Amino acid sequence: MAIQWFPGHMNKAKKQIADTMAKVDMVIEVLDARLPRITTNPLIHELRLHRQRPSLKILNKADLADPAVTAAWVRHFKQEAETEVITLDEAGKLRDTGKVLALCRKLVPHRTGGEKPVRAMILGVPNVGKSTLINALAKRKLAKVADTPGVTQSQQRIELPEGTILVDTPGMMWPKINSNNDGYKLALSGTIGRNAFDAVDVAWYAMGWLALHYPEAIRTRYKLPDLSEPGDVLFERAARALGCVQSGNRIDAQKAAERILVDFRGAVLGRISLERPDNSLDMDLGEEDPEAAAGEAAPEAEQP
Ligand code: GDP
Repeated sequence: MAIQWFPGHMNKAKKQIADTMAKVDMVIEVLDARLPRITTNPLIHELRLHRQRPSLKILNKADLADPAVTAAWVRHFKQEAETEVITLDEAGKLRDTGKVLALCRKLVPHRTGGEKPVRAMILGVPNVGKSTLINALAKRKLAKVADTPGVTQSQQRIELPEGTILVDTPGMMWPKINSNNDGYKLALSGTIGRNAFDAVDVAWYAMGWLALHYPEAIRTRYKLPDLSEPGDVLFERAARALGCVQSGNRIDAQKAAERILVDFRGAVLGRISLERPDNSLDMDLGEEDPEAAAGEAAPEAEQP
C-alpha cells in the first residue's frame, strides 16, 4: 500500500517558513518521541543552517514512547550544534513549561535579560501535540487553528510569560515520507489523517512489525503463542482474541484493525518507539515504492 499524502505547495511553504524564520531568534520543533526523525521536516534543518537559528527540539508524547529509545534520541540530538532537547509527556506538560522557556532563553542568550523578548517560531506536524503545548505555555486555551498541511492559515503571535513570543504558522508542516515504512509508522501513530490510509493495511503492518521488535507487547494481549506465524495468521488470531467475529465465524477485519490501532495509540500495548537513531527498527516490506524509497517527495497537489 502506498500511503497517499499530499504535501501541498512545498516551495510556497518553504518560502513562508524561511520568511518567518528570518524574523525570529530560534525555532521550537515539536516532534513525536515515538518517531522523531520521521516527524522532523528536513526543510527546517536546511533553513536553520542557512539562517543560523538555534533549535529546541521537544520530544513530545514521551509517555507513549519506549524510555530507553527516547534517551538514545536525546543523546543523538544533543550532538547537533545549536540544539537543546527536552522530553515532554501528557502529565508533565504544565509542570515543565518553565523548563521549556528556560531552554529558549539559554539558546538565545543575547535576547535575555533586557527589554528584548525571545521570539520563537513553533513547528510540528499535525497531531504531534503542538496546540496542547502552546496552551500549556500560554497558560490559557487558545482557539485551535485547523492544521491542514499545505493550507496556510494566518500566523498567530502568542505572548508567553517571561518575555517570550511564540510565532505559530499553522498548515506548513507535514512529514516527509521517504518510504512505505515511514508511511505506515505515521499512520500507526495517528499523524496521518484518517482518510489517507486503510486501517486494515496499517494494522497488518503493525502486527508484523510488533512481532519483530516488541513481541511481548502483542503476545499476551492478542493470545499469540507463536509469533513466527505469517502476518495474516497473526492478524486473524488477534481479531478472534478481540472478539471481532461476524456471522459465519468470519473475522471482522475492519473492526479488528481499528481496535489494534486504538490499542497502539493508547499505549495499551506498552510504551513503543517506532524508530531509533540508528534506523534499526525498520521492516523489510519487500516492495518499497521505488520513487518514495529514492527520497522523492510525493507529487505536489492542490488541496481540495
Ligand atoms: P496538534 O495537531 O499538533 O496541535 O495536536 P494537539 O495538541 O491537538 O494534540 C493531538 C492529540 O495528542 C490530542 O489528543 C492531545 O491530547 C494528545 N497529546 C498532546 N500531547 C500529548 C502527550 O504528551 N502525550 C499524549 N499521550 N498525548 C498527547
